Amino acid sequence: MIHEIYTTKNFQKIFLENYLKEYIIQIKMAEIKQITNFLDEELKTAQVEDTSNNGLQVAGKIEVRKIAFAVDACVEVFEKALEAGADMIIVHHGMSWADSLKYITGINYNRIKLLIKNDVSLYASHLPLDMHDKYGNNIQLAKILELDNIEDFGNYHGTAIGKMGCFNHDITIEDLKKILENKLNTKCTAYKFGKDKIKTLGIVSGGGSLALNEAVQKNLDCFLIGEAPHQSYHKAKEGRMNVIMAGHYETETVGVKALMPLLEEKFGVEVVFIDAQPKY
Ligand SMILES: [Zn+2]
Repeated sequence: MIHEIYTTKNFQKIFLENYLKEYIIQIKMAEIKQITNFLDEELKTAQVEDTSNNGLQVAGKIEVRKIAFAVDACVEVFEKALEAGADMIIVHHGMSWADSLKYITGINYNRIKLLIKNDVSLYASHLPLDMHDKYGNNIQLAKILELDNIEDFGNYHGTAIGKMGCFNHDITIEDLKKILENKLNTKCTAYKFGKDKIKTLGIVSGGGSLALNEAVQKNLDCFLIGEAPHQSYHKAKEGRMNVIMAGHYETETVGVKALMPLLEEKFGVEVVFIDAQPKY
């Protein structure tokens, strides 16, 4: 009789231990603070001057099991992330820029309401994610293009936010456009004002035309950006510079995507990329 009681107790203990072990494996999660502290440190968030209020912009639930990654903080991304069951959203273009959230009305209200109602956090990393040496948009673009001798480039208020490097073979603008269109699922446009054969390339993702003069001064063969404002056309022409525009959105998907395996491995959380590519 005594033997039977012990057996039952042991059985219950073993069963519970195994059940809990399995349960813990299934629901891998981390606390939001652990994730944001890690990101702030890795991306050197506090050290980068930016109009974006980088870091945790909306603090939701403490426990995070699934993180959605996207380029833009917008309703389309939030709705898709909620549908995917995300507890946290990490974006390149956040919702809070300088004093943009001074009034929580209209578009601001609708975006914030979606997050707060669902207890979902929003973390933004703008320039820190452009310039990061490993996970940044620009180093990721340089890697996609297999550039050699990669160096810092693209001075913005005293900080290099881009990268430059060289191809180990001559390449034409058309070849470069094809590679980018294929790898980034984009449609490139170009100003062809420079050499036919390209060896050196400067890269500043998104609205990177701020570094056009620097590309000319450094005598680069081509300059890759996301999109260009009207006034850059004549600047490029007068500077005899080739400029490829590969899409603001498309050139900035690569940084957030590079963070996905990092957080998946570090915290054991599920990750998902939310595509909300502008169509026009
Ligand atoms: Zn951008």
